[in-house]
Amino acid sequence: MDMGIKGKRALVCAASKGLGRACAEALAAEGVNLVINARTQETLEATAKEIADRHGVEVIPVAADITTPEGREKVLAALEGGQADILVNNAGGPPPGNWQDWSRDDFIRAIDANMLTAIALMQALVPGMMERGWGRVVNITSAAVRSPIAQLGLSNTARTGLTGFVAGMSRQIAGSGVCVNNLLPGMHDTDRAVSLDTAASKAQGISIDEARAKRQASIPTGVYGRPEDFGAACAFMCSEHARFMIGQNVMLDGGIYNSTM
Ligand code: NAP
Repeated sequence: MDMGIKGKRALVCAASKGLGRACAEALAAEGVNLVINARTQETLEATAKEIADRHGVEVIPVAADITTPEGREKVLAALEGGQADILVNNAGGPPPGNWQDWSRDDFIRAIDANMLTAIALMQALVPGMMERGWGRVVNITSAAVRSPIAQLGLSNTARTGLTGFVAGMSRQIAGSGVCVNNLLPGMHDTDRAVSLDTAASKAQGISIDEARAKRQASIPTGVYGRPEDFGAACAFMCSEHARFMIGQNVMLDGGIYNSTM
């Protein structure tokens, strides 16, 4: 299927590895020119070169912490005319822990990274999309928004806040040709999965392999998701065909969330 977005310009945040990278790859495969971001310059530049070589699109890497105002300023300055047609919001997830231990500073850090950063970037780029009458925003959140994971309480809290914001704002601007939606990963095979399995193995006194096997067994598909499948779903949500999709929370979780709807 032709996604109808060849030649568009996208900003994909936190995209040197994992799910962000997979979204960048899938958009590049559709002929979208990219600005991609992550903090570690070397990895980011290698990713940008690989994607550009493979898909023949422009990929500008901007090394910056997207959760800081200075980082966002640097990234936005790299966009042609300070504008983009497509925005994929992403950042690293907060660390696991216990509800009793998190301080106000821990909550502020998580809310800054996983809620206010995405909102700030939408506030910066969506007005231009509305003026041009076309835009797509995909916020990478988490399956934890729909079904809480107790040890990821910082993530549950911050991402649910973002979800509430998107629910209202996406409908408010729906007539402008800009579609804002959230994509909710369950367990996917990335570095984040390794760090969560490492934490689970320590907490339960089992090996990392055992922790992974135990987690995989709890998923109806019996395996973790593949980043490239996640990227393909993101590309569809950024496509011409997603024009009637507004304020949705699309779960990609291998069926672990048990519900009829
Ligand atoms: P990942 O494999 O660890 O990749 C994270 C990417 O984000 C890297 O490119 C990293 O590069 C970049 N990054 C992290 N913090 C950043 C920051 N402050 N500014 C700019 N770039 C930053 O993680 P992932 O699995 O793709 O996860 C992506 C998001 O989905 C996370 O928020 C995660 O919590 C959430 N999620 C993932 C899963 C899963 O199973 N994988 C499930 C639910 C939710 P640098 O370190 O160089 O900055």
